[in-house]
Amino acid sequence: MPKCEGCDKVFEEHILIEGFCAVCRDALGLLLDELPVLRPAGPCRRCSGQEIVQALLRERGAEGCDHVYEFLRPLAVSHGVEDVESFWSGAKKGVQPNLEAYTGALVAYVCRSCGFTELFAASPGEIPIGPQHGTRLLRPNEGAPYR
Ligand SMILES: [Zn+2]
Ligand SMILES: [Zn+2]
Repeated sequence: MPKCEGCDKVFEEHILIEGFCAVCRDALGLLLDELPVLRPAGPCRRCSGQEIVQALLRERGAEGCDHVYEFLRPLAVSHGVEDVESFWSGAKKGVQPNLEAYTGALVAYVCRSCGFTELFAASPGEIPIGPQHGTRLLRPNEGAPYR
């Protein structure tokens, strides 16, 4: 039975993704699924370099009060938004980000020769549209932004 490369625990083969268990993947700020290949095959567009590094972009943060700990999360195009309700009445009183519910994780493709970098977002069709998500849908052929 294979071991997770992070925690050394033994798992069934299908549980491990790219050699790591879900807990270790989360701790490393990786996607819980295998990193998808988003860039069309081919050499670097700038220098025709033949080696491309695929990298999931991650952001660093910290949370907690008495015990602050740092974390890495996938850097994404959009983050989830959820309502904040009054503890007493249940009435909606605002919104807050849900950083676990990100969409469009950014994957960079870096030419190993010249450093030219292309960015692709995972699951582009699922990126939510709206100011609360920090996004707006543009249709270049129609001119004005779509609302
Ligand atoms: Zn593990
Ligand atoms: Zn290059």
